[in-house]
Amino acid sequence: MARILVIEDEQDLGTLLEYNLKADGHEAEVVRTGAAGIGRLSGFKPDLVLLDLMLPDIAGSEVARLIREGESRRVPIIMVTARSEETDRVRGLELGADDYVTKPFSVKELLLRVKAVLRRQGEAAPVDGRLLSAGDIVLDTERHEVKARGDAVVLTALEFRLLKTFLERPGRVQTRETLLSDVWGIDADITTRTVDTHIKRLREKLGPAGDIIETIRGVGYKLVG
Ligand code: CA
Repeated sequence: MARILVIEDEQDLGTLLEYNLKADGHEAEVVRTGAAGIGRLSGFKPDLVLLDLMLPDIAGSEVARLIREGESRRVPIIMVTARSEETDRVRGLELGADDYVTKPFSVKELLLRVKAVLRRQGEAAPVDGRLLSAGDIVLDTERHEVKARGDAVVLTALEFRLLKTFLERPGRVQTRETLLSDVWGIDADITTRTVDTHIKRLREKLGPAGDIIETIRGVGYKLVG
């Protein structure tokens, strides 16, 4: 069971989502504007946000950005978009949304996405406070050690930070710009191509286990579990 905040201005769709999420055992609340959604974060403390991109007051991508900059920055976001809103969808993913469904979607499909995102979020928790893992990779944050399929992998400090960043944000698209600012530091005088080069080297060092870092063409990278 999870607390799910639905930000959706279409009343029928909002009601349908609320009904089905509750039937699936979740606690759900629907708000009709982006501002109301932002306003409910601290009170409702959602485990997941379903975010319509076309809202009457603020663009959904902007709502995603505001969520990622606030206290609820870690809450997973699934965007609900129309097929024609591709630019907004990419923007939303760049801003840190975890997944999206395209209207019209089946409720069953949406519930599966919700379940998958919540599961990934659960897995994101460190194993015992210092170990992070995904797929065949285990990273020890204190000893600065990485193992892939049980074998030690020697990484540079930067590659270690890069991998740690992915492990801390499973299933969430990381744009090159985000990685540059979070791994290299915001003032780093390098281009986004540098990110690609380092990811390539990191993947090579991890061997087959490195396949969990997936390329999202035109956007960035994502850790898949
Ligand atoms: Ca709408």
